[in-house]
Amino acid sequence: MPQPAIFFGHGSPMNALGGPYADVWRKVGAEVGKPKGVVMISAHWETDGLGVTAQSNPETIHDFGGFTDELHAMQYPAPGSPTLAARVSELTGATQTTQWGLDHGTWSVLAHVWPDADVPVVQLSLNRRLDAQGHFDLARKLSALRDEGVVIAGSGDFVHNLRTWKRTGGDAYPWASGFNEAVKAALVRGDDAALIDWVGLAEDAQMSVPTDEHFLPLLYVAAQRRPGDDVSFFNDVIEGGSISMTGVRIG
Ligand code: ZN
Repeated sequence: MPQPAIFFGHGSPMNALGGPYADVWRKVGAEVGKPKGVVMISAHWETDGLGVTAQSNPETIHDFGGFTDELHAMQYPAPGSPTLAARVSELTGATQTTQWGLDHGTWSVLAHVWPDADVPVVQLSLNRRLDAQGHFDLARKLSALRDEGVVIAGSGDFVHNLRTWKRTGGDAYPWASGFNEAVKAALVRGDDAALIDWVGLAEDAQMSVPTDEHFLPLLYVAAQRRPGDDVSFFNDVIEGGSISMTGVRIG
């Protein structure tokens, strides 16, 4: 059986410390079991050109400020995999690098999906030089990895607007829930073109995606869909009005 492709809505870094979303991530991990490795595309690693982390022991990067000491001290000591990095490089032309490790888009989630930190993780960067179609086409080149025991994962948020986010919580803005639902519907019907041209998915789509780095990791997961793959959602909640936690599993 090919491994699934999974997108995680990561929301606040504080979710790394646990809570209802993390509990669901744990369940997702338990259902998937232990793959040979993970290729993670995180919203928090953008580069000019394409990079893949290639060290045996990637560091836990605390790429945020102003959170609790407990969060700043958190470590996720999952190994890397120079072998998998080389394979990703072969498939995509990515440059192998040791200049990045695991950022919080990756470890805040995977610390719950595979809490024993025993599944090797490599990160593939978001190449700023590509448009959405370019990201999707690149993602397709990773497809064979599913048959090689590797989970392809993305970490971002369908809806990510910090400017309108309500710290004290509250109902989703209509444009946020509308976009979240439109993305889910496009995933269910396998409408890759609509996901790539996300601006046309719903009214005021740009309110949900003011910058596209949190949306693009979803394309890497959507691109893995094969005929017969199931599509299912988890943590389908919008936090503080304008950050969606929605995750999707394909296959
Ligand atoms: Zn983020």
